[in-house]
Amino acid sequence: MLPKYSRVLLKLSGESLMGDRNFGIAPQMLEQYAKEIKAITDIGVQVAIVIGGGNIYRGMNEAETGIERAQGDYMGMLATVINGMALQAALEKAGVNTRLQSAIKMEQVAEPYIRRKAIRHLEKGRVVIFGAGTGNPYFTTDTAGSLRAIEIDADVILKGTRVDGIYTADPEKDATATRFDSLSFSDVISRNLKVMDMTAFTLCQENQLPIIVFDMNRPGNLRDVVAGKKVGTLVS
Ligand code: UDP
Repeated sequence: MLPKYSRVLLKLSGESLMGDRNFGIAPQMLEQYAKEIKAITDIGVQVAIVIGGGNIYRGMNEAETGIERAQGDYMGMLATVINGMALQAALEKAGVNTRLQSAIKMEQVAEPYIRRKAIRHLEKGRVVIFGAGTGNPYFTTDTAGSLRAIEIDADVILKGTRVDGIYTADPEKDATATRFDSLSFSDVISRNLKVMDMTAFTLCQENQLPIIVFDMNRPGNLRDVVAGKKVGTLVS
């Protein structure tokens, strides 16, 4: 099978790694994701990954934690490196070659982020995981995903979620919500749909980087997305 996309950036939330836990990392989720990702590297797709940290730490809750926002954000970025290391271990166990690059230097566990090196790894068939978000507080891992996708010239950003696309309303709260197959960037804005935060979304729009929102927890879905099948919602 010839994939539709040859280089993709997969954005996974930290929370997706929790599985049915309410904190941390569920080993079966790591194993499942590694299997799904391996399936697309096996058909020659170059894969870069940005993973969130919300299963471990989120920086925004200054009122709750008493930790000022910027400090909390750095803690959140470190959490993404922990998730990146976990995913790296799972992928390597599944037989996939990987490199972890961090936007915050920590050379004992990750390469520093170097754009040209990341591209070279991808060309050699290694999965590149980008840790520590953008390296800056007041940003999100969605923004890191958009930024890295543009930098490495990915064909598309694949946002793996628990729902199978973008709906007219939150399908977990509103039973009448219906799913869109595709949308334009301006549709998303005029309908006030939540796809990514505005910074992340605007980066994609300004650089004509398509976004596909899909259900990462459905086995085979990731492979179907890169094959060009009608899975999830395409924003372009
Ligand atoms: N974060 C940050 N800068 C970045 C990326 C992330 O400050 O470029 C921090 C921020 O505090 C965020 C946390 O890291 O809350 C974890 O990332 P995020 O909430 O985006 O993870 P997800 O919701 O995808 O699990």
